[in-house]
Amino acid sequence: MPASPPALHGDSSLGGSSLPSPAAPDARKRRVSYFYEPSIGDYYYGQGHPMKPHRIRMAHNLVVHYSLHRLMEVSRPFPASAADIRRFHSDDYVDFLASVTPQVLAASASAANASAGGSIGAAVKLNRGDADIAINWAGGLHHAKKCEASGFCYVNDIVLGILELLKFHRRVLYVDIDVHHGDGVEEAFYTTDRVMTVSFHKYGDFFPGTGHIKDVGFGAGKYYALNVPLNDGMDDESFRGLFRPLISKVMEVYQPDAVVLQCGADSLAGDRLGCFNLSVRGHADCLRFLRSFNVPLMVLGGGGYTIRNVARCWCYETAVAVGVEPDNKLPYSEYYEYFGPDYVLHIEPKNIENKNSPSDLEKIRNVLLEHISRLQHAPSVPFQERPPKTESPEEEDEEMDQRPPCQLWNGEGYDSDPEVLTPHYDAVENHSAPNHEN
Ligand SMILES: [Zn+2]
Repeated sequence: MPASPPALHGDSSLGGSSLPSPAAPDARKRRVSYFYEPSIGDYYYGQGHPMKPHRIRMAHNLVVHYSLHRLMEVSRPFPASAADIRRFHSDDYVDFLASVTPQVLAASASAANASAGGSIGAAVKLNRGDADIAINWAGGLHHAKKCEASGFCYVNDIVLGILELLKFHRRVLYVDIDVHHGDGVEEAFYTTDRVMTVSFHKYGDFFPGTGHIKDVGFGAGKYYALNVPLNDGMDDESFRGLFRPLISKVMEVYQPDAVVLQCGADSLAGDRLGCFNLSVRGHADCLRFLRSFNVPLMVLGGGGYTIRNVARCWCYETAVAVGVEPDNKLPYSEYYEYFGPDYVLHIEPKNIENKNSPSDLEKIRNVLLEHISRLQHAPSVPFQERPPKTESPEEEDEEMDQRPPCQLWNGEGYDSDPEVLTPHYDAVENHSAPNHEN
């Protein structure tokens, strides 16, 4: 079948939100940078394993056949080095990953390096001001812990990407719409107010078991973790009814300098492991909404186990990022047969019960809005009132690179040892000017 050029429409219908977009109207084109490692689809976790990196190649294939790659900068990531990975993971764990011989683990470790390289590369693009939105669909592996692999995640590319963003941004907001709790990222930043984590997930008898509404952070990080525990069958309307008011309030109160959105596609209807009922459009509404704030935005993948729908979702979200509306009729591509019998981009929700009642949802919304109201308005501003340091910014920069990695995430409140982070904050302040080199 011949490839027909896909129709792309302008984004007048993609108005996003009616919220203020201080820098520009929402229809403004964003500079989008997209990371893709062509070999990622070759990694194979083994027969019957639900995690299939091939889905990233399928999504990319749709992106190319819709000609979306012409509307953004496409880069191949540098694989993350062991030194990069050690910025979060323990030495023993990194050594273990480097030495593994079983094929499955070795494939996972290589895929992990590409995934982490893309997220770090995306952060560097945003840090330099070279892009407004940076996409890495191979990233979003939110379960990996400092010393252990978890839930098909070996290296936590998100934590590494956020650490890179923190070199130039005072506050980073992390939003996670995977059906599973974003536990690895939450844990990494549980005791700091420099990263606020917000996770929407199925809670109760479900992996990984964490993410209770009462888990709000600890020490200096208290109220900077937000958990939205949900039940089976979440549909577009229910999701939007929580996502928009909560995120709007977080944006207003926390005022992040950069946002990271984990777009795990296992929250879509019909996912092999998930239990929500979102359409591609409903899922993408989260990206559309965050995009409307005109804050530097990193967009990552995550879970997603019905791979034809993962490809649809991430292709459509790429279109939302660049600001076009792709034709629902799929262009012909190498993987066309996966998308039968209707060969369209959008999916219909399933006819299943939404176990989240309107009153439950309202209760959750009110409890969480109350949590948000307790957090300090735009924290770290007080640090600007500190007496200026005598060291030059260059020296502080070096100190920042050498800072003991545990300070950001070792489960203890680092408010008990504020000196350790002082150079880091000051270095960040010194670099908040628009001229970001290196
Ligand atoms: Zn997941």
